[in-house]
Amino acid sequence: MSPRETVIIDGKAEAAALRAKVASEARRAAVRPHLAIILVGEDPASHVYVRNKMAAAAEADFRVSLLRLPADVAEARLHREIVARSEAAEIDGILLQLPLPDHLDRRAALSLIAPGKDVDGLTPVNAGLLAQGVAGGFAPCTPLGCVHLAKAAHRSLEGMEALVVGRSELVGRPLAALLLREDCTVTAAHSRSRDLAGLVGRAELLFVAAGVAELVRGSWVREGATVVDVGIHPRVVGGERRLVGDVARGEVLGRAGALTPVPGGVGPMTVAYLLRNLLEAALRR
Ligand code: NAP
Repeated sequence: MSPRETVIIDGKAEAAALRAKVASEARRAAVRPHLAIILVGEDPASHVYVRNKMAAAAEADFRVSLLRLPADVAEARLHREIVARSEAAEIDGILLQLPLPDHLDRRAALSLIAPGKDVDGLTPVNAGLLAQGVAGGFAPCTPLGCVHLAKAAHRSLEGMEALVVGRSELVGRPLAALLLREDCTVTAAHSRSRDLAGLVGRAELLFVAAGVAELVRGSWVREGATVVDVGIHPRVVGGERRLVGDVARGEVLGRAGALTPVPGGVGPMTVAYLLRNLLEAALRR
């Protein structure tokens, strides 16, 4: 049997289309949402992510203000800055860039963000609404992007066997909740799961957010499955710097029905959904 052609799901194009749609909705509604970003410390990856988010917001003609705090900032100062932005009438959305330095309690900081301005969907209120299956909250941007990409390959996800590898607060857990909302049959795997290969083999929709480079091998993947690869790992191959995902891409090509690339898959969607959530927050206010 000749290998099937794996469709590469173009996250860049999907994200560009969503950003353009959000920008035009904002113009039509005559709103110019204002995003407040708080960046603590000097983590190089965080600086890149913040730059990308600021550029996308500027492209949509949204307002952005960036507060940079030193890595050794006192927790009380961080909390004051978050509360000030939660109360500020001119701010529509707040993004606390993660990870935080070790001495800062992420949960305590996130819980100070007003739920109506929580465009990253990480406050306990929004996470709770999502877990309860109640509409009206904000869901995290990366899982929203993952579902969007799966829907680019299938008009409806209803009834499909979905496997999410990873159960983090940021990606795996909310993604599983969103897939339930799409009426998928959802399995959540993690580092203690037995027979990951067997679980992967059953999935029609496979989402991998384990943070382990090339964890999922091609031979595990069900023929024709749709694979959404969330992982990002910098690698030097033959002296060349490149990014690899949590899926062994070369092995999956010719076996999966559709695959998201790394880079150019989930990453751009995360930024586009930040703008979507920000506009939603501004319209609700
Ligand atoms: P995380 O907080 O480290 O969580 C990883 C999850 O994967 C955990 O639930 C862990 O299980 C599970 N896991 C680890 N090793 C495993 C294994 N061998 N088999 C099965 N499950 C395993 O990571 P995260 O924040 O969710 O991020 C995951 C990946 O996505 C990272 O590569 C990250 O860089 C990337 N990411 C990309 C974007 C984007 O925009 N493209 C956004 C966010 C994250 P336990 O719970 O049992 O420990």
